[in-house]
Amino acid sequence: MSVVGIDLGFQSCYVAVARAGGIETVANEYSDRSTPACISFGPKSRAIGAAAKGQVISNAKNTLQGFKRFQGRAYTDPFVQAEKPGNAYELVELPTGATGFKVMYLEEERCFTAEQITGMLLTKLKETAESALKKPVVDCVVAVPCFFTDAERRSVMDATQIAGLNCLRLINETTAVALAYGIYKQDLPAPEEKPRIVVFVDMGHSAYQVSVCAFNKGKLKVLATAFDPSVGGRKFDEVLVSYFCEEFGKKYKLEIKSNIRPLLRLAQECEKLKKLMSANASELPLNIECFMNDVDVSGSMNRGHFEEMCDSLLARIEPPLRSVLEQAKLKKEDIYAVEIIGGATRIPAVKERIVKYFGKEVSTTLNADEAVARGCALQCAILSPAFKVREFSITDLVPYSISLKWNSPAEEGLSDCEVFPKNHAAPFSKVLTFYRKDPFTLDAYYSTPKELLYPDPSLGQFHVQKVIPQADGSSSKVKVKVRVNVHGIFSVSSASLVEVHKVEEGEEPMETDQTAKEEEKMQVDHEELKTEENQQTQAETKSNPDEMETSQSGTKDKKTDQPPQAKKAKVKTSTVDLPIDHYPPWQIGRDVLNLFVENEGKMIMQDKLEKERIDAKNAVEEYVYEMRDKLCSIYEKFVCEDDRNSFILKLEDTENWLYEDGEDQSKQVYIDKLNDLKNLGQPIQTRYQEFEERPKAFEELGKQIQLYMKVIHAFKKKEEIYDHLDPADVDKVEKSVNEAMEWMNNKMNLQHKQDLTIDPVVKTKDIQAKTKELTFTCNPIVTKPKPKVEPPKEEQQAGEQNGPVDSNTNGQGPQAAEQSPDTASETGKKLPDMDIE
Ligand code: ATP
Ligand code: MG
Repeated sequence: MSVVGIDLGFQSCYVAVARAGGIETVANEYSDRSTPACISFGPKSRAIGAAAKGQVISNAKNTLQGFKRFQGRAYTDPFVQAEKPGNAYELVELPTGATGFKVMYLEEERCFTAEQITGMLLTKLKETAESALKKPVVDCVVAVPCFFTDAERRSVMDATQIAGLNCLRLINETTAVALAYGIYKQDLPAPEEKPRIVVFVDMGHSAYQVSVCAFNKGKLKVLATAFDPSVGGRKFDEVLVSYFCEEFGKKYKLEIKSNIRPLLRLAQECEKLKKLMSANASELPLNIECFMNDVDVSGSMNRGHFEEMCDSLLARIEPPLRSVLEQAKLKKEDIYAVEIIGGATRIPAVKERIVKYFGKEVSTTLNADEAVARGCALQCAILSPAFKVREFSITDLVPYSISLKWNSPAEEGLSDCEVFPKNHAAPFSKVLTFYRKDPFTLDAYYSTPKELLYPDPSLGQFHVQKVIPQADGSSSKVKVKVRVNVHGIFSVSSASLVEVHKVEEGEEPMETDQTAKEEEKMQVDHEELKTEENQQTQAETKSNPDEMETSQSGTKDKKTDQPPQAKKAKVKTSTVDLPIDHYPPWQIGRDVLNLFVENEGKMIMQDKLEKERIDAKNAVEEYVYEMRDKLCSIYEKFVCEDDRNSFILKLEDTENWLYEDGEDQSKQVYIDKLNDLKNLGQPIQTRYQEFEERPKAFEELGKQIQLYMKVIHAFKKKEEIYDHLDPADVDKVEKSVNEAMEWMNNKMNLQHKQDLTIDPVVKTKDIQAKTKELTFTCNPIVTKPKPKVEPPKEEQQAGEQNGPVDSNTNGQGPQAAEQSPDTASETGKKLPDMDIE
């Protein structure tokens, strides 16, 4: 099981993984930990991440960026319409009403949904995690802005499925950061003590989010969140872009705003300038060569001027800060720390405003870019059974209040009820009781549309089906469970019908009178709701996300619903699960999602094939350059002049071919071309390698020969160290040594006479084989241990010091000679080279 956390940023994404050493943010194939949220489509493949970023200007119409906020939004959504003019790519309305991204891909016009596009980005991030972990990745935790509505969350969930990921939790970005902050803190207050209150501020490229959290040992609770989803780094860039558009327009008479390419270039330069101004308060230049109509432009800006221009933007920093404190009913003095993250908090004026509001220095203990991804990986590790993580419970919240409305025949009209007020703890489940004879529909909606950053407050309709009256014709009690799950998504997750069975004849059945009175009316008994609220803690979610306390609720119902006189009635109840049909306003159907999954698979395959084709082409090109270079240098003397000239000619032809007919060929054509060249180049390369390696191989053989000759010599001199060897064996060694020496001398002589442009008479591997053969024959003989001699008692100590006894017992054979004064210096040096098999 993989433990992966993904920060799907508007501009840049990060992937963190859990490994034995802890949580680590991993780098992509460019050794960069940040992967641009960018996808480019080409005639043969897609480029995702850094490769796509490089095409923002060159392939502007088919390069998508800034799509995070189109998630789950209709084409007619005011946000989408407002974004349209600033994008180089085309947005269209899909038949479903959703926003489509129109691009040319594989030389065809294609429209992709936001889920597909984010799915593509996730495919890339998944691959990054896979190459870091060296195993397939499926399970992960993905972060979304805390203000994302149901539709946006569902859309991201669909995207994870398209990428073949199993998202264990969609976590709010600020909550992920709070987790990354709290889990390592050893000094948090004990559970019964006053919690430590920390404010987290994240200003990224597109949005500004603030949360206030309460920490106690082993737990974190999000108390409130506030946001301004359109304040972020890009708004600051836009200020600069507008300024320079006007400036350059006047100075150089250019109409920039209607020209997307210069506009994109200007935006890139302005972002660089903005970053430079964070570190430097002096006047800084902005120069762009051949900006438009072959005109070079230049201008300048300083921090003071920039801040002045951004005044209205900067004024939007304080309200969310104030809002979280108000919502959580906290005073500034209650705040222990203000942690800031997100790239745009590096703008000095942004930081100053936060500092000014709280009246204290902000902390930057978290990695401003990677904290979200790290928090996600930590959450994934907590949810993963494969990882042991410190106990840490996270209680998040519902960002917008959620209500239900339904048709109430009893009241002859619509009834409604707020089921989750704003800032209610999440994940959370509640059980509601209805009395009905027929199937009915619950309409869920966000009840404060003004606060909502989304045009449609509907969360969809939930049809509770198969509701039937009781046997006596009265209304049935229907228990409906509503919940906000771990992803922050609302649902009517289950419904059950309580059947009442009479057990004693003649006695009044339960609830008849009562149900008649309450008929068709939902029982919004707040006392009851409270008792049945069922917060799904981390641990519960881990073991069984769908766990329900149905039986418990049943008992409680009896208590609350039965009129006093019914208490005596002998009745038995049982529950029957009811199917629920859900019609969310935006939901990709299962079939369509499957099709998207399949299409993503095809595109991945297409990218892979194209990569292999390009790699094959590059291999030919590389070989041409490498060979041409080496034929005139290190390989020169290993090929005769004629062959060299014709080979060089062939390499040149190949190079030309690569720019002409060979520009766009199939992978196999490149493989064949490379093989053709290698047929010519390989023998030269081999002769060179042999020439380089042969002397060492001969030297090794020579060393072995010398070593055994020394042993023979010592034996013949009757040196004590070898006096236990069998003369016949030594004879064998001598023969082998002589034969090897003769073989070596012969080969060396022949090779010496051989021209370097001709294949060698002896291959290095033959020499190595000869060495091995010699060692194999001689080594067991010369390393034969000396038989153990029991020294006389008084001499024992001296014997031990002198070594032969020791050396024999340690089984190292000739190394024993190291302890013999006359042989130590030589054999001691040589013998470690021996190949003892
Ligand atoms: P979001 O959180 O909105 O989804 P994101 O996570 O991609 O977006 P970040 O990576 O946190 O955003 O921040 C990117 C923004 O921070 C960009 O606007 C970038 O220009 C800005 N930024 C990064 N470094 C600096 C700096 N040194 N000075 C000013 N701005 C900076
Ligand atoms: Mg971010």
